[in-house]
Amino acid sequence: MSFRKLWGTISNKISTKKSSPRIDLTFNDPEASFRSKTTPEVLRAYIVYKLCSYEKLVDHNMKLMKISEKILGKFLFSKLMKATFFGHFVGGEDLKQLMPFVMRLQSFGVKSILDYSVEEDLSEEQAEKIVKESSVSEMGDEIADGSLKQYHVMENSHMDRLGTGITAIKLTALGRPQLLLQISEVIMKAREYIDSMAGGNHKNVLLHHKTIEEMERYYKDKVGEQQDVKEFLKQVTSDKEGIINLFPWSGIVDENFQLSETFRIPDPKTGRMRKFISQITPKEESMFRNMIHRVNTIAQKAKEVGGCVMVDAEQTYFQPAISRITVEMMRKHNKEKVVVMNTYQNYLQSAFDEVKADLEQAKRQNFYFGAKIVRGAYMEQERARAKELGYPDPINPTYEATSEMYHKTLIECLTRIRDLKKQKMDPKRITIMVASHNEDTIRLAINKMDEIGVSPEDNVILFGQLLGMCDFITFPLGAADMMSTSIYHMVLLQKCFLICREEPLRIRV
Ligand SMILES: Cc1cc2nc3c(=O)[nH]c(=O)nc-3n(C[C@H](O)[C@H](O)[C@H](O)COP(=O)(O)OP(=O)(O)OC[C@H]3O[C@@H](n4cnc5c(N)ncnc54)[C@H](O)[C@@H]3O)c2cc1C
Repeated sequence: MSFRKLWGTISNKISTKKSSPRIDLTFNDPEASFRSKTTPEVLRAYIVYKLCSYEKLVDHNMKLMKISEKILGKFLFSKLMKATFFGHFVGGEDLKQLMPFVMRLQSFGVKSILDYSVEEDLSEEQAEKIVKESSVSEMGDEIADGSLKQYHVMENSHMDRLGTGITAIKLTALGRPQLLLQISEVIMKAREYIDSMAGGNHKNVLLHHKTIEEMERYYKDKVGEQQDVKEFLKQVTSDKEGIINLFPWSGIVDENFQLSETFRIPDPKTGRMRKFISQITPKEESMFRNMIHRVNTIAQKAKEVGGCVMVDAEQTYFQPAISRITVEMMRKHNKEKVVVMNTYQNYLQSAFDEVKADLEQAKRQNFYFGAKIVRGAYMEQERARAKELGYPDPINPTYEATSEMYHKTLIECLTRIRDLKKQKMDPKRITIMVASHNEDTIRLAINKMDEIGVSPEDNVILFGQLLGMCDFITFPLGAADMMSTSIYHMVLLQKCFLICREEPLRIRV
């Protein structure tokens, strides 16, 4: 959206014009865009957008905020931020503040998602540092029902009143991130392991379509008949189409496992069991169980109130574990409807394969699949890490390649939803959130829904934008009432997600 266009939009808001009930895919309807705002709020939006259009300001936002805080003092600085950026981008600090705001948005057809915005935006260095520290973190690791969990559950109990009933969570904020890091390494090692057995390129184990019989033959050829191998093969998850998981993930989400015992695999040279995870202390074992317990409790509560939990995607050194745990949570909780949703970052070269593998798992294990599709928020950090550690860049080479993957993923999901409808199955078995501020992507999604045969009434496609990022898309979607439209509300806590993330969100004006 050009600056001139935005200004036209803002000045038009002051005059009055009725919006049409059908969505205008040019996203150039000033009334629909700004109807929800008071004139001072429109002016604040103008100032905030204008400031966000200065690259230098966005690039150095943290430094500038620190300097301003020093000059103004904590109190004045906080007032200034609340009157400007936080006021525009953050829904409120607590439910009391949030509720009237949420209700107001709902009256414009825009539903809300609560996002608990304490973000552990850890760099690889910080994560490594935490790995070395054995002290208990602030996250209530030692108490299964830590304060964070209670917070989430409290928010969840208000889900039914808050529109979409979706709460967003970050797994790194619910437990010790370093355990996610270690489990991510295990998953990557398992992929290398199956690659060396079947050939390939670090794909999800399920995509190799290896059967248990083939594995049995493989070990027999290598090391003969061995009791350990037999025991290992008994706990591999598989069906007639092949292996789904090498490790017993169901035990992990049911909280009845020992990490160090779970991640063991036969060495193809000796047949002896090899540990795929470095030493885990009993204290760490219980911390991990506590994290899983918290996620289970939140999901259970969501199910009870008819809501849904959306798990955010994070950096690649945590993401394999986050995604695996989330998919297993889907398997456990999504038996009759989507309660848990995963997130897929399409800037990753592996994204399409990941979505396909997880859709396949959902189909074979008969659970509902929920996914938020994003481009990804940590690109610069991922690239810097890959360069520093000398491994291939996991990110798609260009923005266009990322968009292409996003659209391919979306079309794959829409096609599968259409197939469900054709087979007279519940189309809600696949529910997708198109989470993007990109007009072309939103347009493509709406056009493809029409073309492929997924209607808004199927209620399986949601649209998500961050609060205040692109009202010109969010509100027309809400006003057209053609599909459930959602935005994020960030609860203002320690950090503001938008400003503190690795890759600041830039506003195009
Ligand atoms: C509702 C919602 C929820 C979100 N949840 C998450 C989450 O859980 N995890 C997460 O990581 N992000 C999340 N995001 C952020 C999201 O991943 C994007 O960073 C953000 O939305 C910008 O992408 P876009 O499609 O909106 O806009 P666009 O401007 O179309 O795309 C910008 C994005 O394109 C990608 N890109 C840019 N240049 C290149 C390049 N040269 N090569 C490859 N890719 C490139 C980057 O990912 C960049 O962020 C969420 C966003 C929304 C709206």
